[in-house]
Amino acid sequence: MQGIIDSHIHAYPAELAVDPVAWAAANGEPYWGGLVAASKLQDWAEPARMLADMDAAGVACCIVQGWYWQRQENCAAMNRWGAALARAHPGRFAALASVQPAAGDRAVDEVCRAFDDGCVGLGELHPAVQGWSLESAVWERIATICVERCQPVCFHATEPVGPDYAGKTETPLADYVALARRFPELKIVLAHWGGGLPFFMMNRWTAKTLRNVYFDTAASPLLYDSRVWAAAVNMAGAEHILYGSDYPLRVYPSRQSMAEMRLLRDEALAKLPEDTIEAVMRGNAQRVFGIA
Ligand SMILES: [Zn+2]
Repeated sequence: MQGIIDSHIHAYPAELAVDPVAWAAANGEPYWGGLVAASKLQDWAEPARMLADMDAAGVACCIVQGWYWQRQENCAAMNRWGAALARAHPGRFAALASVQPAAGDRAVDEVCRAFDDGCVGLGELHPAVQGWSLESAVWERIATICVERCQPVCFHATEPVGPDYAGKTETPLADYVALARRFPELKIVLAHWGGGLPFFMMNRWTAKTLRNVYFDTAASPLLYDSRVWAAAVNMAGAEHILYGSDYPLRVYPSRQSMAEMRLLRDEALAKLPEDTIEAVMRGNAQRVFGIA
């Protein structure tokens, strides 16, 4: 299949890859520093290699997620970098913006600036790691701006059961459901198969509440066996599923010495029902992120 849109990759300026632990220490990002220091899965790719890996896998466009930085200054700096990356490669990359709502007015201003700068939504956000609440007044102002400007928000979603691993931090799924209920017009993307929420799309009340909520497949092989593809489209409806990889993470650690994009594409194409492929691999992302 040609023209895949990968809705969930990460990318960083080269200076972060040189010594991520030192960068994190110098820039007040202990969570990210700890995660990267502990990770055997993290790989790093500069734009030229990203584009080569995309071409090798038939990926036309990647949505570059921001990280859930703890400091607003880092969100702003990375947003400038992500927007510039997208501008340098039109049609190949689109950028989401990070924000730290605990920073108050500065966070609200940055959201508007990032959208003016071409970012196509917010993400990846993680309230528990960043230390803010989905019920805070600042967040509600930001969510209102996203609704007004028709911009989606992507949150990290953690599966509530299963083993503990480095960096695993709970994201109560009920909080996301409550947010969808308060902001029915807000397009919400819950990463990593929504932490299991697709199961509850079979509950009539929840399905109605989550009608504007989408689930991405980022890091799927690290968390679930390949039955998840068919099961999730069956439970949630294919129109709610967005293909995403979490590149440059090595999501098949025993089969990949470096991150690449083909193995996950092959799993998705082999396991998704044929009549859902166009929506999951491309069409839904165009609609949710408003890209042509
Ligand atoms: Zn995530």
